[in-house]
Amino acid sequence: MTIPDAALTTPALDVLRDVFGYDAFRGEQQEIISTVVDGRDALVLMPTGGGKSLCYQIPALVRRGTGVVISPLIALMQDQVDALDALGVRAGFLNSTQDPGQRRAVEQAYRSGELDLLYLAPERLGVESTARLLDQGTIALFAIDEAHCVSQWGHDFRPDYLRLSELAERWPGVPRIALTATATQHTREEIATRLGLTEARHFVASFDRPNITYRVAPKDNPGKQLLDLLRTEHPGDAGIVYCLSRASVEKTAQQLTDQGIRALPYHAGLPAHVRAANQSTFLREDGVIMVATIAFGMGIDKPDVRFVAHLDLPKSVEGYYQETGRAGRDGLPSTAWLAYGLADVVQQRKMIAESDGDLAHRRRLSSHLDAMLALCETVECRRAQLLRYFDQDHPGSCGACDTCQNPPEAWDGTVPAQKLLSAVFRLDRERNQRFGVGHLVDILRGKSTPKITQWGHDSLTVFGVGEDLSDGEWRSVARQLLALGLLEVDSNHGTLLLTEASAEVLGRRREVRLRRDPRPQGSARKPARSRAARPEAAVLSDVDQEIFERLRAWRAAAAKEQGVPAYVVFHDATLRTVAAERPADLDALSGISGVGQAKLDRYGDGILAALQAQG
Ligand code: ADP
Ligand code: ZN
Repeated sequence: MTIPDAALTTPALDVLRDVFGYDAFRGEQQEIISTVVDGRDALVLMPTGGGKSLCYQIPALVRRGTGVVISPLIALMQDQVDALDALGVRAGFLNSTQDPGQRRAVEQAYRSGELDLLYLAPERLGVESTARLLDQGTIALFAIDEAHCVSQWGHDFRPDYLRLSELAERWPGVPRIALTATATQHTREEIATRLGLTEARHFVASFDRPNITYRVAPKDNPGKQLLDLLRTEHPGDAGIVYCLSRASVEKTAQQLTDQGIRALPYHAGLPAHVRAANQSTFLREDGVIMVATIAFGMGIDKPDVRFVAHLDLPKSVEGYYQETGRAGRDGLPSTAWLAYGLADVVQQRKMIAESDGDLAHRRRLSSHLDAMLALCETVECRRAQLLRYFDQDHPGSCGACDTCQNPPEAWDGTVPAQKLLSAVFRLDRERNQRFGVGHLVDILRGKSTPKITQWGHDSLTVFGVGEDLSDGEWRSVARQLLALGLLEVDSNHGTLLLTEASAEVLGRRREVRLRRDPRPQGSARKPARSRAARPEAAVLSDVDQEIFERLRAWRAAAAKEQGVPAYVVFHDATLRTVAAERPADLDALSGISGVGQAKLDRYGDGILAALQAQG
């Protein structure tokens, strides 16, 4: 490790304190910043909320010239620039949403050296006129945000991102910093190669998000379960609810609205202006819930998303990690909650079987799903398992996931598995009719339903051999056998079929360990908070809470007046500390994390007045 040159570090620390109002660097920020300030390249892998932005914003302020930031998130550039503006940082952007007049003004500001940061859409750089413009000013650095866009799993922006490897040829002396929240080793290597970052120092942060509590609930009555979660644990909080289909997005948003909860839909089937308006409301107003397909969320940097709920099973652990990662960027306690049931497994297996693409592609989808299912069915610490997927060690027993807080029992399910598999085998021999899981369970439990009588299934040897388990328990067994690959779904009929591996169980050559589902909790108790949540997670008394609400109302008004998202004014974490510490004057206020010089000047008197307004 190199000792950073003090002459360079001091300005960086000054900028952190004066401009951003923070006391100390987090994790490897300081090392990364001094690497770039020194003119060297860096590749940064850090989870969402880890603090990537400062890693290029501070060097851009410390080095001479303008930091050029390449970002695909055109829709969010205005908010990013507004947030910098609130900090007194001179920033602008160039993208296709501007009219020629606006563009000229930004170009002029750049040429005259009046910009600290310039945000560019990737396709702009391919245009010769942009390159010529950049030559007319001084480039402090290039920051390549969302750098995983170059990878083959990638995105629409891939061709433009691939061209970024030319930056080093055209501007050899300018340091480049590539940043991403995608954790896999594969993606990291690909970014380095494709962007020509051969000399770059790599910084790989821990991907743990200690302030997020991970929970997977057996899916029972998802609408009601979601409502319980919102009412008991997250009243008035902003959050995202992910659903698989457009139809379920619409339905869920409507159900929440009917219950008097502020919820908006978002999916690719909505007109662009409705999507944009809903996204803007979610970002700008407090306590809005976005019900969305996974089309929503990339680059959303709203810091106070308090929960991410999945009503359907994500297709991969990567997806799950990215989506849940949108909760709690501000470091305050947040919830990742997933409802998962038998039908999810059946549906996803079926979708894979029916998907286009060759066998190799379907195998890849299957292995992604298997890893996700293993995470759902684990009896171990979910955080440890999640991190292991990204090749990162965690000692387990995190205390902030459901399996740690409420350890599930593992049990020997070999005999029930044999019973269920034999029932599948008997039905299979009988000419593959459309017998779903419900019918199987009825046979095992010995129920003489009309369908059973009609098919004569009450004379099967397996009829009634499973009275020791309840319907729910049998469904749980079937779900876990599917997750373990001991059963599969026939894509034509949705019927359950045996697999090669089932023979080992039927032949008593393999034991089956299962987890006992915890009973669905009527009203979920408030989960214990992670011990590792950051210290700025001030715990508020009732009085403080009241003050906090008052400050939030002041913030909402201030944000509205200026047409910016509430978090641009102050983050929740800052308002909570203000509520807890009640600074008496501007001097005391300036000592609070998140209050830099520009915000002190702009909002100091307002926030003190709001604090003192009757108490
Ligand atoms: P990322 O881009 O990695 O998702 P951000 O750059 O948006 O994360 O940072 C996440 C949050 O953490 C922001 O609210 C940011 O202001 C805050 N933050 C970043 N660095 C620090 C620090 N050194 N001290 C306090 N807060 C920080
Ligand atoms: Zn745990």
